[in-house]
Amino acid sequence: MSIWNPWHGCRKISAGCLNCYVYRRDESIGKDASVVSKTGDYDLPLKKNRQGSYKLTAEDGVVFCCMTSDFFLDAADEWRQGCWDMMRERQDLSFHIITKRIDRFEQCIPPDWGEGWDNVTICCTCENQDRTDYRLPLFLKLPIKHREVICEPMLGEINMEKYLSAGLIEHVSCGGESGPDARPCDLRWIQEVRRECIRCGIPFTFRQTGAVFIKDGRTYHLDRKLHLSQAKKSGYSYIPGMSMADAIKYTLPDRRALFDRLKRSDFRSRFHLACKDRQYIAEKGLDTIQSHARDFVEKRLSTENPENDGKQTPMKGHPVFVAQHATACCCRSCLEKWHNIPAGKVLTKEEQAYIVSVLMEWIEAEMNNV
Ligand code: SF4
Ligand SMILES: [Zn+2]
Repeated sequence: MSIWNPWHGCRKISAGCLNCYVYRRDESIGKDASVVSKTGDYDLPLKKNRQGSYKLTAEDGVVFCCMTSDFFLDAADEWRQGCWDMMRERQDLSFHIITKRIDRFEQCIPPDWGEGWDNVTICCTCENQDRTDYRLPLFLKLPIKHREVICEPMLGEINMEKYLSAGLIEHVSCGGESGPDARPCDLRWIQEVRRECIRCGIPFTFRQTGAVFIKDGRTYHLDRKLHLSQAKKSGYSYIPGMSMADAIKYTLPDRRALFDRLKRSDFRSRFHLACKDRQYIAEKGLDTIQSHARDFVEKRLSTENPENDGKQTPMKGHPVFVAQHATACCCRSCLEKWHNIPAGKVLTKEEQAYIVSVLMEWIEAEMNNV
Protein backbone atom coordinates (compact mmCIF):
# COMPACT_ATOMS: atom_id res chain seq x y z
CA MET A 1 0.00 0.00 0.00
CA SER A 2 1.11 3.59 -0.62
CA ILE A 3 -0.04 6.92 0.78
CA TRP A 4 -0.56 10.03 -1.31
CA ASN A 5 -1.23 13.20 0.63
CA PRO A 6 -1.73 15.98 -1.95
CA TRP A 7 -2.66 18.46 0.77
CA HIS A 8 -2.45 18.57 4.52
CA GLY A 9 -4.76 19.95 7.19
CA CYS A 10 -8.48 19.58 7.75
CA ARG A 11 -11.58 20.93 9.52
CA LYS A 12 -13.47 18.86 12.07
CA ILE A 13 -16.92 17.99 10.84
CA SER A 14 -18.51 15.25 12.98
CA ALA A 15 -18.18 13.22 16.19
CA GLY A 16 -15.53 10.94 14.67
CA CYS A 17 -13.22 13.94 14.25
CA LEU A 18 -13.03 14.79 17.97
CA ASN A 19 -9.65 13.14 18.56
CA CYS A 20 -8.42 13.31 14.95
CA TYR A 21 -4.86 12.02 14.73
CA VAL A 22 -3.88 14.74 12.23
CA TYR A 23 -4.69 17.37 14.86
CA ARG A 24 -2.96 15.37 17.57
CA ARG A 25 0.21 14.90 15.54
CA ASP A 26 0.31 18.53 14.36
CA GLU A 27 -0.27 19.85 17.88
CA SER A 28 2.67 17.82 19.14
CA ILE A 29 4.95 19.74 16.76
CA GLY A 30 3.29 23.10 17.35
CA LYS A 31 1.45 23.13 14.02
CA ASP A 32 -2.16 24.20 13.37
CA ALA A 33 -3.93 21.34 11.58
CA SER A 34 -6.82 23.56 10.54
CA VAL A 35 -4.55 25.35 8.10
CA VAL A 36 -4.89 23.51 4.80
CA SER A 37 -1.97 23.60 2.39
CA LYS A 38 -0.79 21.78 -0.70
CA THR A 39 2.11 19.41 -0.02
CA GLY A 40 5.30 18.73 -1.96
CA ASP A 41 3.77 15.34 -2.79
CA TYR A 42 0.84 16.86 -4.65
CA ASP A 43 1.91 15.25 -7.92
CA LEU A 44 3.24 12.02 -6.41
CA PRO A 45 1.38 9.73 -8.87
CA LEU A 46 3.33 11.33 -11.73
CA LYS A 47 6.70 11.55 -9.96
CA LYS A 48 9.47 9.43 -11.43
CA ASN A 49 12.69 8.06 -10.01
CA ARG A 50 16.16 8.46 -11.55
CA GLN A 51 15.59 5.49 -13.84
CA GLY A 52 12.61 7.31 -15.31
CA SER A 53 9.93 5.00 -13.96
CA TYR A 54 7.02 5.98 -11.76
CA LYS A 55 7.63 6.08 -8.01
CA LEU A 56 4.17 4.66 -7.32
CA THR A 57 3.69 1.26 -8.88
CA ALA A 58 0.75 -1.12 -9.03
CA GLU A 59 2.92 -3.75 -7.28
CA ASP A 60 2.91 -1.60 -4.14
CA GLY A 61 -0.85 -2.07 -3.91
CA VAL A 62 -3.64 0.37 -3.19
CA VAL A 63 -2.87 4.11 -3.04
CA PHE A 64 -4.62 5.69 -0.05
CA CYS A 65 -5.36 9.28 -0.94
CA CYS A 66 -5.54 12.20 1.47
CA MET A 67 -4.80 10.55 4.78
CA THR A 68 -3.96 13.83 6.55
CA SER A 69 -7.04 15.66 5.28
CA ASP A 70 -10.34 14.93 3.53
CA PHE A 71 -10.32 14.72 -0.26
CA PHE A 72 -13.67 16.51 -0.48
CA LEU A 73 -12.76 19.33 1.91
CA ASP A 74 -14.01 22.68 0.56
CA ALA A 75 -10.69 24.38 1.33
CA ALA A 76 -9.11 22.10 -1.30
CA ASP A 77 -11.62 22.76 -4.11
CA GLU A 78 -9.11 24.46 -6.38
CA TRP A 79 -6.56 21.61 -6.13
CA ARG A 80 -8.85 18.61 -6.63
CA GLN A 81 -9.18 18.69 -10.42
CA GLY A 82 -5.42 18.20 -10.75
CA CYS A 83 -5.71 15.06 -8.60
CA TRP A 84 -8.51 13.65 -10.76
CA ASP A 85 -6.30 14.28 -13.81
CA MET A 86 -3.49 12.26 -12.23
CA MET A 87 -5.86 9.44 -11.28
CA ARG A 88 -7.15 9.38 -14.85
CA GLU A 89 -3.59 9.19 -16.16
CA ARG A 90 -2.58 6.42 -13.74
CA GLN A 91 -5.25 3.85 -14.67
CA ASP A 92 -2.80 1.17 -13.49
CA LEU A 93 -3.11 2.32 -9.88
CA SER A 94 -6.05 1.71 -7.56
CA PHE A 95 -6.88 4.84 -5.55
CA HIS A 96 -8.84 4.68 -2.28
CA ILE A 97 -10.43 7.87 -1.02
CA ILE A 98 -11.70 7.88 2.59
CA THR A 99 -14.18 10.65 3.31
CA LYS A 100 -16.54 12.06 5.90
CA ARG A 101 -17.84 14.49 3.26
CA ILE A 102 -19.73 12.23 0.89
CA ASP A 103 -22.39 14.98 0.74
CA ARG A 104 -19.91 17.09 -1.27
CA PHE A 105 -19.10 14.31 -3.74
CA GLU A 106 -21.35 15.38 -6.61
CA GLN A 107 -20.03 18.92 -6.68
CA CYS A 108 -16.44 17.65 -6.63
CA ILE A 109 -16.30 15.08 -9.46
CA PRO A 110 -14.66 15.78 -12.82
CA PRO A 111 -16.83 16.31 -15.95
CA ASP A 112 -15.91 12.92 -17.43
CA TRP A 113 -16.62 10.94 -14.24
CA GLY A 114 -19.70 9.26 -15.79
CA GLU A 115 -20.81 6.26 -13.72
CA GLY A 116 -17.51 6.28 -11.85
CA TRP A 117 -13.97 5.16 -12.55
CA ASP A 118 -12.81 1.59 -12.17
CA ASN A 119 -9.58 2.59 -10.46
CA VAL A 120 -11.17 4.77 -7.77
CA THR A 121 -12.77 3.32 -4.62
CA ILE A 122 -14.70 5.68 -2.36
CA CYS A 123 -14.73 4.77 1.33
CA CYS A 124 -17.49 6.44 3.31
CA THR A 125 -16.82 6.82 7.03
CA CYS A 126 -19.69 6.24 9.50
CA GLU A 127 -18.82 6.55 13.17
CA ASN A 128 -22.30 6.26 14.70
CA GLN A 129 -25.91 5.55 13.73
CA ASP A 130 -26.72 9.18 13.07
CA ARG A 131 -23.92 9.64 10.53
CA THR A 132 -24.68 6.21 9.01
CA ASP A 133 -28.29 7.20 8.37
CA TYR A 134 -27.19 10.51 6.89
CA ARG A 135 -24.26 9.40 4.74
CA LEU A 136 -25.11 5.92 3.48
CA PRO A 137 -28.36 6.80 1.66
CA LEU A 138 -26.41 9.51 -0.20
CA PHE A 139 -23.48 7.18 -0.80
CA LEU A 140 -25.69 4.52 -2.39
CA LYS A 141 -27.23 6.98 -4.86
CA LEU A 142 -23.95 8.36 -6.20
CA PRO A 143 -22.25 7.19 -9.38
CA ILE A 144 -19.40 5.17 -7.87
CA LYS A 145 -17.88 1.95 -9.19
CA HIS A 146 -16.40 0.71 -5.91
CA ARG A 147 -17.83 1.51 -2.48
CA GLU A 148 -16.55 0.67 0.98
CA VAL A 149 -17.76 1.66 4.44
CA ILE A 150 -15.41 2.43 7.32
CA CYS A 151 -16.65 2.64 10.92
CA GLU A 152 -13.55 3.99 12.62
CA PRO A 153 -13.54 5.16 15.29
CA MET A 154 -16.71 3.25 16.03
CA LEU A 155 -18.54 5.24 18.71
CA GLY A 156 -21.72 3.24 19.29
CA GLU A 157 -23.92 0.44 18.02
CA ILE A 158 -24.64 0.78 14.32
CA ASN A 159 -27.24 -1.01 12.22
CA MET A 160 -26.64 -0.76 8.52
CA GLU A 161 -28.15 -3.90 7.05
CA LYS A 162 -30.78 -2.01 5.07
CA TYR A 163 -27.94 -0.22 3.26
CA LEU A 164 -25.70 -3.28 2.92
CA SER A 165 -28.51 -5.35 1.45
CA ALA A 166 -28.63 -3.07 -1.60
CA GLY A 167 -25.61 -5.09 -2.81
CA LEU A 168 -23.52 -2.02 -3.68
CA ILE A 169 -21.05 -2.00 -0.80
CA GLU A 170 -18.00 -4.17 -1.36
CA HIS A 171 -16.33 -4.09 2.04
CA VAL A 172 -16.93 -2.88 5.59
CA SER A 173 -14.36 -2.29 8.29
CA CYS A 174 -14.77 -1.39 11.94
CA GLY A 175 -12.42 -0.43 14.71
CA GLY A 176 -11.92 1.47 17.93
CA GLU A 177 -10.19 4.77 18.61
CA SER A 178 -6.54 5.28 19.50
CA GLY A 179 -4.84 8.00 21.51
CA PRO A 180 -4.84 9.26 25.09
CA ASP A 181 -8.48 10.45 25.03
CA ALA A 182 -9.82 7.45 23.11
CA ARG A 183 -13.49 6.69 23.51
CA PRO A 184 -14.41 3.06 24.20
CA CYS A 185 -15.38 0.52 21.56
CA ASP A 186 -17.52 -2.48 22.48
CA LEU A 187 -17.05 -5.89 20.87
CA ARG A 188 -20.85 -6.17 20.68
CA TRP A 189 -20.95 -3.25 18.22
CA ILE A 190 -18.31 -4.96 16.07
CA GLN A 191 -20.23 -8.25 16.20
CA GLU A 192 -23.47 -6.56 15.15
CA VAL A 193 -22.05 -5.02 11.96
CA ARG A 194 -20.12 -8.20 11.27
CA ARG A 195 -23.30 -10.30 11.44
CA GLU A 196 -25.01 -7.90 9.05
CA CYS A 197 -22.10 -8.26 6.64
CA ILE A 198 -22.22 -12.06 6.89
CA ARG A 199 -25.92 -12.11 6.07
CA CYS A 200 -25.28 -9.87 3.06
CA GLY A 201 -22.18 -11.82 1.96
CA ILE A 202 -19.90 -8.78 2.33
CA PRO A 203 -16.26 -9.07 3.48
CA PHE A 204 -15.72 -7.48 6.87
CA THR A 205 -12.52 -6.38 8.59
CA PHE A 206 -12.13 -5.84 12.31
CA ARG A 207 -9.27 -3.40 11.88
CA GLN A 208 -8.28 -2.47 15.41
CA THR A 209 -9.46 -2.68 18.98
CA GLY A 210 -8.58 0.92 19.80
CA ALA A 211 -7.12 1.94 23.17
CA VAL A 212 -10.24 1.24 25.26
CA PHE A 213 -11.99 -1.98 24.36
CA ILE A 214 -15.02 -3.51 26.05
CA LYS A 215 -15.53 -7.25 25.93
CA ASP A 216 -18.24 -9.09 27.89
CA GLY A 217 -18.84 -5.92 29.89
CA ARG A 218 -15.17 -5.62 30.97
CA THR A 219 -13.08 -2.65 29.88
CA TYR A 220 -9.54 -3.27 28.67
CA HIS A 221 -6.88 -0.59 28.13
CA LEU A 222 -4.64 -1.71 25.33
CA ASP A 223 -1.17 -0.58 24.44
CA ARG A 224 -0.90 1.04 20.99
CA LYS A 225 1.09 -1.82 19.52
CA LEU A 226 -1.68 -4.30 20.34
CA HIS A 227 -4.59 -2.48 18.65
CA LEU A 228 -4.05 -4.03 15.22
CA SER A 229 -2.55 -7.35 16.26
CA GLN A 230 -5.27 -8.19 18.81
CA ALA A 231 -7.99 -7.41 16.28
CA LYS A 232 -6.28 -9.61 13.72
CA LYS A 233 -5.82 -12.45 16.18
CA SER A 234 -9.45 -12.31 17.32
CA GLY A 235 -10.76 -13.97 14.16
CA TYR A 236 -13.56 -11.42 13.79
CA SER A 237 -12.65 -10.40 10.27
CA TYR A 238 -14.76 -12.21 7.73
CA ILE A 239 -14.40 -13.24 4.12
CA PRO A 240 -17.16 -15.54 2.86
CA GLY A 241 -16.00 -19.15 2.71
CA MET A 242 -12.60 -18.60 4.37
CA SER A 243 -13.41 -20.15 7.82
CA MET A 244 -11.79 -17.20 9.58
CA ALA A 245 -14.23 -17.43 12.49
CA ASP A 246 -12.73 -20.79 13.50
CA ALA A 247 -10.04 -18.70 15.23
CA ILE A 248 -12.56 -16.99 17.54
CA LYS A 249 -12.12 -18.13 21.13
CA TYR A 250 -15.30 -18.32 23.19
CA THR A 251 -16.81 -20.15 26.13
CA LEU A 252 -20.30 -21.57 26.24
CA PRO A 253 -22.47 -20.02 28.94
CA ASP A 254 -23.03 -21.71 32.27
CA ARG A 255 -26.18 -23.79 31.75
CA ARG A 256 -27.97 -22.70 34.94
CA ALA A 257 -27.13 -19.04 34.41
CA LEU A 258 -28.38 -19.32 30.82
CA PHE A 259 -31.73 -20.80 31.82
CA ASP A 260 -32.12 -18.16 34.55
CA ARG A 261 -31.47 -15.40 32.03
CA LEU A 262 -33.97 -16.92 29.59
CA LYS A 263 -36.59 -16.97 32.35
CA ARG A 264 -35.97 -13.29 33.04
CA SER A 265 -36.40 -12.33 29.38
CA ASP A 266 -39.96 -11.15 28.66
CA PHE A 267 -39.66 -12.31 25.07
CA ARG A 268 -38.10 -15.75 25.66
CA SER A 269 -40.22 -16.67 28.66
CA ARG A 270 -43.42 -16.14 26.66
CA PHE A 271 -42.81 -19.33 24.70
CA HIS A 272 -44.45 -22.52 25.96
CA LEU A 273 -45.48 -25.83 24.44
CA ALA A 274 -49.08 -25.84 23.25
CA CYS A 275 -51.45 -28.79 23.85
CA LYS A 276 -50.83 -29.91 20.29
CA ASP A 277 -47.05 -29.90 20.85
CA ARG A 278 -47.40 -31.96 24.00
CA GLN A 279 -49.61 -34.51 22.23
CA TYR A 280 -47.14 -34.69 19.37
CA ILE A 281 -44.24 -35.33 21.77
CA ALA A 282 -46.27 -37.96 23.65
CA GLU A 283 -47.07 -39.71 20.36
CA LYS A 284 -43.57 -39.62 18.89
CA GLY A 285 -41.47 -40.00 22.02
CA LEU A 286 -38.51 -37.83 23.09
CA ASP A 287 -35.96 -39.77 21.03
CA THR A 288 -37.77 -38.89 17.82
CA ILE A 289 -38.14 -35.26 18.89
CA GLN A 290 -34.40 -35.19 19.57
CA SER A 291 -33.67 -36.52 16.10
CA HIS A 292 -35.91 -33.81 14.64
CA ALA A 293 -34.00 -31.24 16.67
CA ARG A 294 -30.68 -32.57 15.31
CA ASP A 295 -32.05 -32.34 11.83
CA PHE A 296 -33.33 -28.75 12.19
CA VAL A 297 -30.09 -27.58 13.77
CA GLU A 298 -28.02 -29.14 11.02
CA LYS A 299 -30.17 -27.97 8.11
CA ARG A 300 -31.21 -24.50 9.31
CA LEU A 301 -28.39 -23.31 11.55
CA SER A 302 -25.12 -25.13 10.94
CA THR A 303 -23.84 -23.59 7.71
CA GLU A 304 -21.59 -20.53 7.74
CA ASN A 305 -24.39 -18.26 6.55
CA PRO A 306 -27.73 -20.10 6.83
CA GLU A 307 -30.37 -19.22 4.30
CA ASN A 308 -32.83 -16.59 5.51
CA ASP A 309 -30.91 -16.26 8.76
CA GLY A 310 -33.01 -14.58 11.43
CA LYS A 311 -36.23 -15.77 9.82
CA GLN A 312 -35.53 -19.49 9.41
CA THR A 313 -37.39 -20.68 12.51
CA PRO A 314 -41.20 -20.56 12.44
CA MET A 315 -42.90 -19.42 15.64
CA LYS A 316 -44.95 -22.61 15.86
CA GLY A 317 -45.72 -25.84 13.98
CA HIS A 318 -43.23 -28.09 15.80
CA PRO A 319 -42.24 -28.31 19.48
CA VAL A 320 -38.57 -27.86 18.51
CA PHE A 321 -39.32 -24.51 16.84
CA VAL A 322 -40.93 -23.29 20.07
CA ALA A 323 -37.94 -24.55 22.07
CA GLN A 324 -35.60 -22.74 19.69
CA HIS A 325 -37.25 -19.40 20.37
CA ALA A 326 -37.55 -20.06 24.09
CA THR A 327 -33.83 -20.85 24.37
CA ALA A 328 -32.49 -18.34 21.81
CA CYS A 329 -31.35 -21.10 19.46
CA CYS A 330 -33.49 -19.74 16.62
CA CYS A 331 -30.84 -18.08 14.43
CA ARG A 332 -27.12 -17.34 14.32
CA SER A 333 -27.56 -13.88 15.85
CA CYS A 334 -29.31 -15.29 18.90
CA LEU A 335 -26.76 -18.10 19.15
CA GLU A 336 -23.98 -15.50 19.25
CA LYS A 337 -25.73 -13.11 21.63
CA TRP A 338 -26.99 -15.72 24.11
CA HIS A 339 -24.64 -18.68 23.73
CA ASN A 340 -21.44 -16.94 22.53
CA ILE A 341 -21.28 -19.22 19.47
CA PRO A 342 -19.72 -17.01 16.78
CA ALA A 343 -21.70 -16.22 13.66
CA GLY A 344 -20.03 -16.81 10.31
CA LYS A 345 -18.65 -20.27 11.03
CA VAL A 346 -19.75 -23.78 10.16
CA LEU A 347 -21.04 -25.29 13.42
CA THR A 348 -18.99 -28.25 14.60
CA LYS A 349 -20.66 -31.53 15.61
CA GLU A 350 -19.99 -30.56 19.26
CA GLU A 351 -21.66 -27.16 18.84
CA GLN A 352 -24.66 -28.78 17.19
CA ALA A 353 -24.88 -31.35 19.99
CA TYR A 354 -24.76 -28.55 22.57
CA ILE A 355 -27.68 -26.74 20.90
CA VAL A 356 -29.71 -29.94 20.70
CA SER A 357 -29.05 -30.62 24.39
CA VAL A 358 -30.26 -27.11 25.34
CA LEU A 359 -33.42 -27.62 23.27
CA MET A 360 -34.10 -31.01 24.81
CA GLU A 361 -33.50 -29.73 28.34
CA TRP A 362 -36.12 -27.03 27.77
CA ILE A 363 -38.60 -29.47 26.18
CA GLU A 364 -38.22 -31.99 29.00
CA ALA A 365 -38.69 -29.29 31.64
CA GLU A 366 -41.85 -28.11 29.86
CA MET A 367 -43.19 -31.67 29.67
CA ASN A 368 -42.59 -32.17 33.40
CA ASN A 369 -44.19 -28.87 34.22
CA VAL A 370 -47.81 -29.49 33.29
S1 SF4 B 1 -12.36 14.57 8.38
FE1 SF4 B 1 -10.74 13.16 8.98
S2 SF4 B 1 -8.85 14.33 8.76
FE2 SF4 B 1 -10.53 15.79 8.77
S3 SF4 B 1 -10.70 16.43 10.90
FE3 SF4 B 1 -12.13 14.74 10.60
S4 SF4 B 1 -10.97 12.92 11.19
FE4 SF4 B 1 -9.49 14.58 10.87
ZN1 LIG C 1 -32.99 -15.56 16.62
